[in-house]
Amino acid sequence: MVGEVRTAIEENQFVTYFQPRVSVADNQIKGFEALIRWNHPEKGVTSPLDFLPYIENTDLDIQIGEWVIQNSLKQLDEWLKQGITLEISINISSNHLLSSSFIYDLEEALSNYPVHYAQYLQLEILESSAFGDIQTITSIIEKCQEKLKVTFSLDDFGTGYSSLTHLRRLPVNTIKIDQTFVRDILDDPSDFSIIEGVIALTRSFNRNVIAEGVESTNHGLLLLLMGCELAQGYQIAKPMPIATFNQWLNNY
Ligand code: C2E
Ligand code: MG
Ligand code: MG
Repeated sequence: MVGEVRTAIEENQFVTYFQPRVSVADNQIKGFEALIRWNHPEKGVTSPLDFLPYIENTDLDIQIGEWVIQNSLKQLDEWLKQGITLEISINISSNHLLSSSFIYDLEEALSNYPVHYAQYLQLEILESSAFGDIQTITSIIEKCQEKLKVTFSLDDFGTGYSSLTHLRRLPVNTIKIDQTFVRDILDDPSDFSIIEGVIALTRSFNRNVIAEGVESTNHGLLLLLMGCELAQGYQIAKPMPIATFNQWLNNY
């Protein structure tokens, strides 16, 4: 698999799909997430979950991460030039974030564009990934926020081993509630209570909150009533290749 991914990078077989996130309160599009896909010559469009786990903690993980950053900035540039001011979120593996040249490479990538572009870039880090030393991660996040002006969100919140410690210590701007808690809120009182609690905690800690995996209007409405305005999920739109996404954006 590692060999195949290496070839796929050389042969440009990766693409990013885009999924919007909207404010359920006023239906405004707030941004979108870039999600990688492998356009496999035989297997067709392949999910990241089918290849990312195999390259975790290898140099390829970092190479792919760099490609996603470059590609997303290029896309952001196209949109900003058309006057579309939407924030783009990209997923960064902890191995990549912790690599010695991460901040330098990100600064380098951003330096090809006007300085205000950084405010539209959000980096998502997985709560479930092994952060190792929280102190180190915290200092990387702070440097990126202060020096480069990019923002951070903590993805899949609630699936890590010490969510409360992460909430207290990681200076992320946004908490993204994991879809496994969102899925059953309409029927499952425990999931409802967890989400109620997480929303209250994000308020206390002064963080933005977004729910992922919003699969029906009722999910969106309930979340809105509970105080979570931002949503991402199939009910709004599935991740789409760029041409479809642009069309969706035009018709929205
Ligand atoms: P994630 O960052 O939590 O992204 C959300 C995942 O949930 C995406 O899966 C998305 O397609 C899916 N999703 C969105 N709305 C719904 C919904 O309403 N219902 C359901 N059932 N699913 C929904 P995807 O694209 O397969 O990505 C899976 C994971 O792979 C991502 O989870 C992220 O952790 C990772 N990933 C994706 N792209 C990248 C990347 O460029 N770099 C890195 N390091 N990781 C990536
Ligand atoms: Mg994500
Ligand atoms: Mg997630």
